[in-house]
Amino acid sequence: MSEKRSEINQLGEFGLIDRISKRFNPKNQSSVKGIGDDAAVIEAGDDCVLLSTDMLVEGIHFDLSYMPLQHLGYKAVAVNVSDIAAMNGKPEQITVSLALSNRFSIEAIDTLYEGIRAACDNYKVDLVGGDTTSSVSGLIISITAVGRAKKEKIAYRTGAMTGDIICVTGDLGGAFIGLQVLEREKQVFLANPQMQPDIERYDYMVKRLLKPEARTDVVFELEELGVQPTSMIDISDGLASELFHISRNAGVGIRIYEDKIPVDGGVYETAVEFGLDPITCALNGGEDYELLFTISKDDFEKVKNHPDIHFIGYVHERKNENSLITKNGNEVPLKAQGWDHFQ
Ligand code: ADP
Ligand code: MG
Repeated sequence: MSEKRSEINQLGEFGLIDRISKRFNPKNQSSVKGIGDDAAVIEAGDDCVLLSTDMLVEGIHFDLSYMPLQHLGYKAVAVNVSDIAAMNGKPEQITVSLALSNRFSIEAIDTLYEGIRAACDNYKVDLVGGDTTSSVSGLIISITAVGRAKKEKIAYRTGAMTGDIICVTGDLGGAFIGLQVLEREKQVFLANPQMQPDIERYDYMVKRLLKPEARTDVVFELEELGVQPTSMIDISDGLASELFHISRNAGVGIRIYEDKIPVDGGVYETAVEFGLDPITCALNGGEDYELLFTISKDDFEKVKNHPDIHFIGYVHERKNENSLITKNGNEVPLKAQGWDHFQ
């Protein structure tokens, strides 16, 4: 008798997570928030502990032919810290787990850990444990980050409310364009190994991909300004995909304006050079690790002069009606492509 076999790509990443989550109910009162946000929330005395984990797999998330190990170490920490920041929390500890093949030397691992240490110093987190094992081929690095926040400070994806203003930090699409640049240079190099890579002009976007920063600075600044975001998420899969998470989780609709989406000038030009639409890159390119959050209209005065926070639209009550107002004033439905590892 043959067993039924269903392909994972029928569900996609989010469908699979939903399916897993439906089968587990929390048993402990301390589990305040389980699956479904950037980090889990666990009650611990007066504060809550935030817990998030992310795995980077060689050949899927990074290519060592252009990702220096030091940057990889840094990025692996930054993306986890970013998920703690996305709860409006402060990161405190990480654990690092590695699966390694014998392709890697001691020196290579030292270099990886130099990057991990630099990130620990920058984000003021402590490396407190991990696990080391072998892999048949390639490198897998899994990091768990632990953070802390006061219960009332935590910003969930579910909190966005009608009338809220949608905010984005930094600029978007850079990491995706950086990836296009590096992929192109890799092909040029493979065709002619004598060619020196010509990437100086593209420094900013290459850095956005190789060495992203978690926006913990914004978490501190919002606190100083006395602004409590009503919802927050980090932009790992692309702005559009994250807006859909906010919309679905909060049961609201969102409307954003094309001309308000922040794109760096050099990123814009390079997108055009590659024959890509810069706004599509900003909407659907991933890995910028900026923060997307909503604030009450009443808080707008407090943040309106912040140089690195952009106001891209607002929240309305028509659930799942998510749209983009184009530069010439047309309203088009927003599409979320994001990344799907199973396609
Ligand atoms: P992020 O992009 O912020 O890292 P993910 O999309 O990876 O978030 O995950 C969304 C939610 O699903 C998180 O709460 C995460 O902990 C949970 N999750 C992801 N994969 C699994 C899994 N295999 N089992 C249980 N929960 C998972
Ligand atoms: Mg996240």
